[in-house]
Amino acid sequence: MDVLLTALLVFTVAASLAEQPPNIVVLFADDFGYGDMASYGHPTQEWNALDDLASEGLRFTQWYSGESLCTPSRAALLTGRLPVRSGMIPGGEKENRVLGPTSKNGLPQDEITIAELLKTKGYATGHVGKWHLGINANTATDGAHLPAHHGFDYVGTSLPFSNVWGCDDTGVHEKRPDNKVCFAYHNTTIFQQPINHTELTPSLVRDAVGFIHDHRTDPFFLYFAFAHCHVSMFSSPGFTGESARGVYGDNFAEMAWAAGEVISTLKSLDLANNTLVFFTSDNGPHIELCLEGGSASLLQGGKSMTYEGGIRMPAIAWWPGKIQPGRVTSQIASTMDIFVTAAKIAGVDLPTNVTIDGRDISPILFDVDAKTPHDFLFHYCSSRLMAVRHGPYKAHYYTQMLPLANYTTVHCTNGSPHGEFFQGWACYGPTVTEHNPPLLFNVEADPSETYALNAAEYGDVLAKIAAAVTAHKAALKPRPPLLGVNDAHLQPCCNPPHCACE
Ligand code: MG
Repeated sequence: MDVLLTALLVFTVAASLAEQPPNIVVLFADDFGYGDMASYGHPTQEWNALDDLASEGLRFTQWYSGESLCTPSRAALLTGRLPVRSGMIPGGEKENRVLGPTSKNGLPQDEITIAELLKTKGYATGHVGKWHLGINANTATDGAHLPAHHGFDYVGTSLPFSNVWGCDDTGVHEKRPDNKVCFAYHNTTIFQQPINHTELTPSLVRDAVGFIHDHRTDPFFLYFAFAHCHVSMFSSPGFTGESARGVYGDNFAEMAWAAGEVISTLKSLDLANNTLVFFTSDNGPHIELCLEGGSASLLQGGKSMTYEGGIRMPAIAWWPGKIQPGRVTSQIASTMDIFVTAAKIAGVDLPTNVTIDGRDISPILFDVDAKTPHDFLFHYCSSRLMAVRHGPYKAHYYTQMLPLANYTTVHCTNGSPHGEFFQGWACYGPTVTEHNPPLLFNVEADPSETYALNAAEYGDVLAKIAAAVTAHKAALKPRPPLLGVNDAHLQPCCNPPHCACE
């Protein structure tokens, strides 16, 4: 080729890449706690690729999920909205707080996801991994709620439900996996029942890396939601028995390897300087599961609760050349902010016909002096407003039951859970305590929520919070709850009536 022509071509490609909006990648863990990583202080968990990501990027110490369980938290991530607005909550006081394999509903079609928003700017959109925002609506094969119908053009290996307790194939807890709750899809088609754990992580990585290769010249959005570290615990042969921490450490190490493969792909394709990566978790660790659940470190409570352990997440933002490596910030941020920040960075206008709870945190990413955009954060359990964060203060209007003092000896002999259970799952009923005046903590001085402040001395703080609650509730317009409607005919099954295939 003519030298001049080659130079022109190189220049044109470089110019178009320079003008190209940045790629956005969300790496999302499941039931992974604030205290699970070495870089967050875990004493025996080995350092891994996710700790490297923290060293090369920005680590948050006050990042909050949108809810304390999988389905509502994922709805909050993808829409930037509290789940009470998108209907991803149970009706009344029924306590089915997540979608199941035979749920009839899913994330409503008119909710705008990050993928749909970024597509308007020409982004290629891809999803790999766990979904948990609905499967079928009318038949066992319509897949009406799957990611393909929520803005994802490419969907690789997918767990439309979850990797759950019933998927246990170790023989430790279950005789055999329960196929009805344990299945994997490629896009909208079920291909494996039960999940083959040895194949799972390599297959997720192959699809995520393949998507990046295929779209290396496009702007792209990749949502990679790991099956890890939700029970059942699993790991591939290269990871099994390797962590000092046991099965949870092995499972986490495999997740970190998968994340590292994505990062090294971005680096090897020279995309790192034009890609913003977020890593965080959907909700806190399932602490009732002993050494098979994660760690909230010094935080009180875990998954399903609005104590800090249920909602304060490890979180990393990474963008070489843009985000200063090795920074740590204590500015308050939320998983719902990813929606708004992605829109800002991509140069897309936010939808104007819906209330967005997330805020633009790009100033925090790039400027060490930037302050949190959140004056108040509202922490829900289904339809119930449980607690409100304001500055260093957190007011609990309701609290859930914590695991009893003897649960480790009763339920966790030798660190192994006797079964899957929760003690503080409910948002209503006898295990929930109302506080009037609210139970107030300074969670910056006292992140363990151990030393309640004297309400009489903090009347001005409580009055400000009460006024914010009144205004929030007056403007809320909740959508009718959509969880808890089930139809056995919607059961995903690869080869009826057997529901077993490899
Ligand atoms: Mg979860």
